[in-house]
Amino acid sequence: METKVYMPTPTNIRHCAALLKRGDIVAFPTETVYGLGADARNETAVRKIYEAKGRPADNPLIVHVADAAQIKEIAADIPAVAVKLTESFSPGPLTVVYRKKSIIPDIVTGGLQTVGIRIPAHPVALDLLRDAGVPVCAPSANLSTKPSPTTAKHVMEDMDGRIPAVLDGGACRVGIESTVIDVTTDPPRILRKGGIPVEEIVRVIGDVGVVRSDSTALCPGMKYKHYAPKAEVLFSAYYDDMHSTICEYYDKLKTSGKNPVILALAPRAKLYGSRAVMTVGADYRAYAHNLFADLRLADEKGYTVVIAEGVEPKGIGESLINRLIKSSGGQII
Ligand code: AMP
Ligand code: MG
Repeated sequence: METKVYMPTPTNIRHCAALLKRGDIVAFPTETVYGLGADARNETAVRKIYEAKGRPADNPLIVHVADAAQIKEIAADIPAVAVKLTESFSPGPLTVVYRKKSIIPDIVTGGLQTVGIRIPAHPVALDLLRDAGVPVCAPSANLSTKPSPTTAKHVMEDMDGRIPAVLDGGACRVGIESTVIDVTTDPPRILRKGGIPVEEIVRVIGDVGVVRSDSTALCPGMKYKHYAPKAEVLFSAYYDDMHSTICEYYDKLKTSGKNPVILALAPRAKLYGSRAVMTVGADYRAYAHNLFADLRLADEKGYTVVIAEGVEPKGIGESLINRLIKSSGGQII
């Protein structure tokens, strides 16, 4: 199959919406990462997503909608706390898990009776959803296990020949996936940390539970290998002196014939002297924005080991730690 890359003109967005309506799948930009979308009501269309990605069928997909009215068509029950969350964070990188209506087939939710719904804060995604007029379920548009794609070029690396269309909306602003919160329990609980820091959610709705990210019964996607480039990834714990440990590991790897690179915040790059460093930007937001792109870039440049600097577990730092633990398969130094 030929994969066409479309600039996001109104005509091209309408064309891609028509593909979705007739049961095809389309990759599109959101503010978190690129999604691979299908009409969420159409089982045959949804199956194509799992095939293209090689994704296990018990890993639920997030349903994307254009506005709050559309949430009512899918969610069986909308508690007051969810209304508050939507008012505060939508459109944006927050997915809310509700009890689902039967209009959403089991294949979308991995057999769960709940459904995760999100309104993306990206003009191209919103235009596509409005033109299509259907709820669009979409996981990240990468091959299962690979780092999530944050540009159309990344999508093509993984999906060329496997899907009919990619809408190119440039680089994704946030760069990591949405925060997922389940409102079917009281208090609500965070199932996955992501683009909206937990502290911001607590400020709006008060205390929430946080499900351990290894609790795979509640958050099925978390049991799978994720976000892994070809290179081996090591991830440093965060402490004042972490650069000394990172340098030691780097030097040992180099001596043993490996080709390591350090992922570091720009203001800290000088701590590593003449060692190979890829800077991820000035702060944690930039680190999140660049992480997946830099993991792919490390492969492209032929590095065989990536040593990623640790971050403090606060704000978006917590979400970064989750992604780094997954990318490294838990190899913490
Ligand atoms: P991805 O599409 O790769 O960003 O993954 C979506 C993730 O959101 C899944 O792997 C789950 O961990 C989580 N998720 C989506 N829908 C639900 C749901 N109904 N219940 C629990 N977790 C969900
Ligand atoms: Mg994904």
